[in-house]
Amino acid sequence: MFVISKNDLLNWVHDLASSKNVLAPVLNNRGETIFEKIHDHKQIHLNYQTTMVSPRKFIYPTRQDIKQPSLNEIQGKIIFGIHACDMHALSVLDKTFLGEFKDSYYAELREKTAIIVLNCNKACEKKYPNFILKGFCASMDSGPFLKLKKGYDIEITDIGKQQYLIETASKKGRELIAKSKKFKKALKKDISQKIKLKKSALVSFTKKLETKGLPELLAKTLDHPVYKQTADSRCLSCTNCTMVCPTCFCYNIEDNIAYDLKTAGRNRYWDSCQELNFGKVHDGNFREPRLARLRQFVTHKLSTWLEQYGCFGCVGCGRCMTWCPTNIDLTEMAKEIQKDFKEGKIK
Ligand code: SF4
Ligand code: SF4
Repeated sequence: MFVISKNDLLNWVHDLASSKNVLAPVLNNRGETIFEKIHDHKQIHLNYQTTMVSPRKFIYPTRQDIKQPSLNEIQGKIIFGIHACDMHALSVLDKTFLGEFKDSYYAELREKTAIIVLNCNKACEKKYPNFILKGFCASMDSGPFLKLKKGYDIEITDIGKQQYLIETASKKGRELIAKSKKFKKALKKDISQKIKLKKSALVSFTKKLETKGLPELLAKTLDHPVYKQTADSRCLSCTNCTMVCPTCFCYNIEDNIAYDLKTAGRNRYWDSCQELNFGKVHDGNFREPRLARLRQFVTHKLSTWLEQYGCFGCVGCGRCMTWCPTNIDLTEMAKEIQKDFKEGKIK
């Protein structure tokens, strides 16, 4: 373990960015934080709240020409400053794309990407005109500090007094810091400070979800009226929730043939279970009603994902409810079902 001053950390990232593609949180001209390629450490905005689009797009692009990947896609990159929940989301995507069926396109980008995680010292909360984004990663066991032991390269923690604790987790991570003399050996007090901050970060959450027994409860209450009420009165099937969710993995593939019929491309792009035609197969649509599509989102993230991958499909980032035009919140739907169960209204 090492420590480094904030200035030296940023200078180190600056040096990395002179020879590699470094993607880091930066403020755009609307005052929103987005992940973007940086050229100068002065662009980095470390003290950010959850971004609208997660860094999953750098490993699983929104649209990808799988016949001829762009240079930008195949070049190696470093993602700097990804929050713990988003790193957990990548580990969830790994189970889909690198599990029983290995997706070579994802595998290539994942392999070529070094990931530097930034732990959060408090819950993410941000006020938007119609909603307050509130992270609940502590409930989903995916933050605010990293719980993973592998799948990333470096973990950094702001331990106060302009100092950062640095922990490497891979050969790639060790190589990244090896050439720099800016990293000093961490002392016991630095490690104790991390433990202290981790505890205080955990109690900073105002949004919570009780997950004990939740997958089983949701699996047996598929007919609960909350799905129909919410779908009929508020869901627009706009697909925003699935576009911003860092664990959503569905895609479609389309072939584009040039007008001269001499060249063709094959693209894959993010698809959404909230889209009307998503469930259209052969001569029917197995999920045509809006209620069925909304219920799929909620029960997949909080229930059936466990059967499929052994973990929740929700990391508690808070994006889907923030960027839903009517602020449909899957935790509120789950809580309504939990409440009815506690009150004995459902068995
Ligand atoms: S379901 Fe919503 S809160 Fe959970 S990980 Fe996806 S976007 Fe984040
Ligand atoms: S973002 Fe909201 S309105 Fe749009 S599909 Fe998702 S739940 Fe429905």
